[in-house]
Amino acid sequence: MKIYNLQVGPIMTNCYLLCDEEAKVCALIDPGDDADRVERMVAASGCALQSILLTHGHFDHCSAVRELVALHPDVPVYINRTDTVDGGTYHDLKFSRLADHNQRYYAEGDTVAVGSLSLTVWETPGHSRGSVCLIGDGFLFSGDTLFRGSCGRTDFPDGNYADILQSLARLGRLEGNYAVYPGHDRATDLDGERTFNPYLRQALRL
Ligand SMILES: [Zn+2]
Repeated sequence: MKIYNLQVGPIMTNCYLLCDEEAKVCALIDPGDDADRVERMVAASGCALQSILLTHGHFDHCSAVRELVALHPDVPVYINRTDTVDGGTYHDLKFSRLADHNQRYYAEGDTVAVGSLSLTVWETPGHSRGSVCLIGDGFLFSGDTLFRGSCGRTDFPDGNYADILQSLARLGRLEGNYAVYPGHDRATDLDGERTFNPYLRQALRL
């Protein structure tokens, strides 16, 4: 397994490429901008793009999706349906649904395979109602739910602080340590966050 990372767009969103190098396949997580650079990362990996996975519908996590789908016309794009809308603009803070050929939805407990790797979908509302975390074997993509030393903001129209605390508590109760790949800022790990992250610590006390 290999995980590549690019920071894209004006808010430096982390776009990740999860690769099974033996099977030569990969999945792209949160291509939020800079489609050209993202496409070069995919090409440089030598792996075939199997899917695009979105942690939520905010524009800074999905603005490059349409350009990438144009380059990979058969690639499925997964998101929680709650964070999608028909039409709309980025002001809606929801992902404007693609044509049926490409659009897929995932929900609590679903799994997505990337070669021999498997990601389990956890619905983790709070930053947005349809936010998800993608849980692998010893690693997770936390979107804008859990950050290094912090958590996602909850002051958007469908954000909810009580919800994000519940979501953080759920992550915090995972057994063992996990590498954490957040939607912004540097990667971290769950043991470190359980020790130093005031929001996760507050959540675990509730
Ligand atoms: Zn967001």
